Amino acid sequence: MESLFEKLTQLTQIEFLLLTVCLTIIIFLLTIYSLNKEKKKLTKTVENNVKIFQKTCDISEDAIMILSAKNEVLYANDSMVRLLQFNNHFLSQQLDTIAEIKVKKDWIVLDTLIKEHSINLDDTVLSYPNSNLKLSEGDKIPINFYMDTILMSSSNEEICHVVTIQDLSKEIERSNLHFRHQLTNLPNQLQAYQDLPAFFSKAHLEKNKLALMLMHLDNFSMLRSIIGYEQANDVLKKFARHLETVGINLNISVYHTFDNHFLLTVTNLHSMEEAKTFVKDIQTRLASFYKMEDVNLHLTVSAGISIYPDSGSIRKLLDYAYRALAKAEQEGDGKIHIFIPEESTSNYDELRLHNDMQGALNNGDFEVYYQPIIQVETKEIVAAEALIRWKHPQYGLIPPDVFIYLMEKTGFIVKLGQYVLEEVLKQQKRWELFKFKQIEVSINVSMVEINTGEFVQHVERKLGEHQINPELLKFEITEGVAMINEAETVRHFLALKKLGVGISLDDFGTGYTSFGYLKKFPADNLKIDKSLVDYILTNEEDQRIVKAIIELAHTLGMKIVVEGIENKKMVDMIASYGCDYMQGYHFAKPLPVFEFQKLLR
Ligand code: C2E
Ligand code: CA
Ligand code: CA
Repeated sequence: MESLFEKLTQLTQIEFLLLTVCLTIIIFLLTIYSLNKEKKKLTKTVENNVKIFQKTCDISEDAIMILSAKNEVLYANDSMVRLLQFNNHFLSQQLDTIAEIKVKKDWIVLDTLIKEHSINLDDTVLSYPNSNLKLSEGDKIPINFYMDTILMSSSNEEICHVVTIQDLSKEIERSNLHFRHQLTNLPNQLQAYQDLPAFFSKAHLEKNKLALMLMHLDNFSMLRSIIGYEQANDVLKKFARHLETVGINLNISVYHTFDNHFLLTVTNLHSMEEAKTFVKDIQTRLASFYKMEDVNLHLTVSAGISIYPDSGSIRKLLDYAYRALAKAEQEGDGKIHIFIPEESTSNYDELRLHNDMQGALNNGDFEVYYQPIIQVETKEIVAAEALIRWKHPQYGLIPPDVFIYLMEKTGFIVKLGQYVLEEVLKQQKRWELFKFKQIEVSINVSMVEINTGEFVQHVERKLGEHQINPELLKFEITEGVAMINEAETVRHFLALKKLGVGISLDDFGTGYTSFGYLKKFPADNLKIDKSLVDYILTNEEDQRIVKAIIELAHTLGMKIVVEGIENKKMVDMIASYGCDYMQGYHFAKPLPVFEFQKLLR
């Protein structure tokens, strides 16, 4: 070190200057070299990022393009190229398309729309969700449209537009699939639920009969095991096409509800006999209907028919058709059975029940049972349904299905309803005093009670009398019934909600409420009927329906209760669909209050 220093001091001035210049040049070169390296690295990173973004956009199903301030296409991904049908040389060219977007009621050329928005350089994204794109007359695609204008530098010249178009046709197609049977493409049970209200009002207004005909090909499981799965599906498809043709000719709607079951709705029916003749005609044609290797396959069909108004209330019309079908099956293959209302109460003398009602109420022969409602998430009892029982001196315990219908006819249901409300409120007070867990109790209410016009005031008065928090009370109304006098019902229920009590739409899936109506109905809960979950473990159609109902109710902000849960498998399956609450024999049957309380403890 010292010798180097000595050598340096011995240098002449000129030599020292030269050395300094050399060193400076070396340092300069080194700096340039390292700066260049940094810059290259940075450029590389930017290039990589751009590549990643471009790849992401390339594979996106949404159509994306970037336009310059002058509307030249700087980038378009494959989806956009396909959607707007660009030719091969679109890059760096003026946007050239005849595409029009629907904005409110007008069709605006895409080009014009972009130009108009680019003047307006605020932060907002221009968006037209659920719009339409038109490329040629008659060819409209449902889309979501978004456009954002990005300022690249402070001068307004350097801007670009990012345009995104989401093609919704596939999604719509998928949701339409919800309403079709996968095998035969006929409308399915879900579609039937949607359509039935319209059929009902039509029959009602035109004073025509409405028939629901459920048909099934007999011994189908056996047939399937003999001729094989593929061949059996062919039979179903052919039968479906046959019914469809008959349907088109006679203005009958045909649904493939599940497996080998079909539902036909006949609106312009004049007599019961006509319904029978119609089915017989189908049965006759079935004989020569499916050939296997030149041999006619022997097929028979059984049918259960319910007819409004002959069979009774519309609310149960589909249930009745199922009951009639079960009867037909019992009688053998190829039988037709028409439901007549006496069948449901035939074990009881209606007149006797009718005469005994008032006395029973005075004697305390009615008792409120409670069935727990379980919250899926916590597996705890969070509510209960109050279900009435009649301990009759001659008949023993009579199930409500037998007498409620009679009480509705005579108006006695109003008194019974008041009794149940009184009992439940008293019980709530007792639970409060004895420090039981406070739970909400649901009471079934009949439309007859609501239509007295005094129901809401009565509830308000009773809540005040017993000093019960209205949030601990809910009313259940059967869906089909609730829609008969739509506007009135909604008005009454809004008044109830104002009091702070809850509303449940009961037996959902049996009463043909259209989804459109559901939106208007101020219900907190929707109870999916037992009949929709009875065969859920094996019936994929029912699985899809229940899933779809749950999704729909959730989008409308309602909670879901599924009734009729009878085993662990059902719990698991239905919980996986996102159901909120469950009720059923798996947890507990309806119990007298003392038994029920033990569960609460
Ligand atoms: P709901 O409102 O649909 O009540 C549910 C019915 O399903 C009850 O029948 C209940 O016992 C039954 N259930 C619950 N879980 C299961 C299960 O896992 N498996 C099976 N097989 N059944 C189950 P219930 O008590 O016979 O009542 C029948 C109907 O009578 C009720 O149907 C309701 O519409 C009506 N009802 C009952 N109490 C009253 C009342 O106080 N007032 C009015 N207006 N109607 C009532
Ligand atoms: Ca109920
Ligand atoms: Ca129910």
